[in-house]
Amino acid sequence: MAILKVAAMGNPVLRKVSEPVTAEELLCRPFQTFLDDLIDTMREYDGVGIAAPQVHVGKRAAVMEVHQNPRYPQLPDFPLTVFINPLVTFLTDEEFDMWEGCLSVPDIRGKVPRKKKIRVDAWDRQGQTISMDAEGVFAAVLQHELDHLDGKLFVDRVRDTSTLTFLKEYQRYFAGKD
Ligand code: ZN
Repeated sequence: MAILKVAAMGNPVLRKVSEPVTAEELLCRPFQTFLDDLIDTMREYDGVGIAAPQVHVGKRAAVMEVHQNPRYPQLPDFPLTVFINPLVTFLTDEEFDMWEGCLSVPDIRGKVPRKKKIRVDAWDRQGQTISMDAEGVFAAVLQHELDHLDGKLFVDRVRDTSTLTFLKEYQRYFAGKD
């Protein structure tokens, strides 16, 4: 088990389109260890999700978990889930605004329009297919994490840049207000 180093905005690794994971690669010991490390890294930094490129690995893998998260205290729990080669389908064109942050963009929040309802089809860490519908904040978190696999950061999707806010100011002026 290891805590991996998180790439920060400006690092080119965050701007590359990640490669699919082959079934053979997924099941080998080094990749399984990598997934354990990715989960530990997310937990260490109180992330609600993390994607492989954020730890300098250009593979289509991401993990998500919410359990009494101190960075997002309002979020309900979401069980630990591993997404390999995920595909997102929008189930509605309706959008809502989500205040987002990112371990690769430290101490910044901004309001991002996200689709309200999505489906994610992926493999789990054993290569079994999973299909999950998500709504609201979970749909937004998933869209955020899966964007990383295509080299996109939430700041690219902030429509109103006047919402870009340091975490301290976010907590002072905006947290829990909408
Ligand atoms: Zn992120």
